[in-house]
Amino acid sequence: MQAVLLGPPGSGKGTQAAALADRLGFQHLATGDILREEVKNKTKLGMEAKKFMEKGELVPDKLILEMVSSHLKPDVAYLWDGFPRTEEQAVGLDAMLAVRNLSVDVAVLLEVPDAIIIRRISGRLSCPGCGANYHRETLPSKKEGVCDRCGTRLEARTDDRPEVVARRLAVYREQTSPVMRYYEKQGKLVRVNGDQPPENVTAKLAAVFEAAKGKSQKVDG
Ligand code: ADP
Ligand code: ZN
Repeated sequence: MQAVLLGPPGSGKGTQAAALADRLGFQHLATGDILREEVKNKTKLGMEAKKFMEKGELVPDKLILEMVSSHLKPDVAYLWDGFPRTEEQAVGLDAMLAVRNLSVDVAVLLEVPDAIIIRRISGRLSCPGCGANYHRETLPSKKEGVCDRCGTRLEARTDDRPEVVARRLAVYREQTSPVMRYYEKQGKLVRVNGDQPPENVTAKLAAVFEAAKGKSQKVDG
């Protein structure tokens, strides 16, 4: 079972994927998280990727596809988050899966209006120590600016500045919309309203993934 989670920045892909991975036996693979780790460790890929990420642009397909391919393990049910983000990446993913006799079973599009996205992203904070996520308005830490779990000082992502967010949204419309159509043409796209309480979104997504899982097992044998 291979599932893709699509949606604009701030649509809740990361939060939802983390909530669902354990529950449904997926491995959550987020290209944005891998890239941020590479940037933090100042690797060659990280240094190159940083130039694009801080402007809200996409990291070139070739780098992303090499990176994904190096992380891909056999016999793992992946929940892909933030990837594929261009049609070329979608084609590349299909090719990587095809050699393993696999294919994408379902692609879910989390739909959230732009105005909501901007509000969500502008309050976003995360813990560099343990990865916990917070929001200034909707999910504040007990002590302002400090992680409840590990006491580390919270940070905003450098690409969550308003002008960069605007660019990320534009890039999403221009370059990621074709990915949505790519899966739609194959009859694999399911739309889910991402503008409802997180636990409702999780429940809806779980139902969609369970249904797709049932179908893919029938095909497999
Ligand atoms: P969001 O979905 O909120 O924009 P991500 O963590 O998925 O956040 O991505 C952050 C940044 O990392 C993107 O703006 C882009 O520069 C880069 N990135 C992540 N995934 C990809 C990808 N699949 N292709 C190209 N760039 C990517
Ligand atoms: Zn923490």
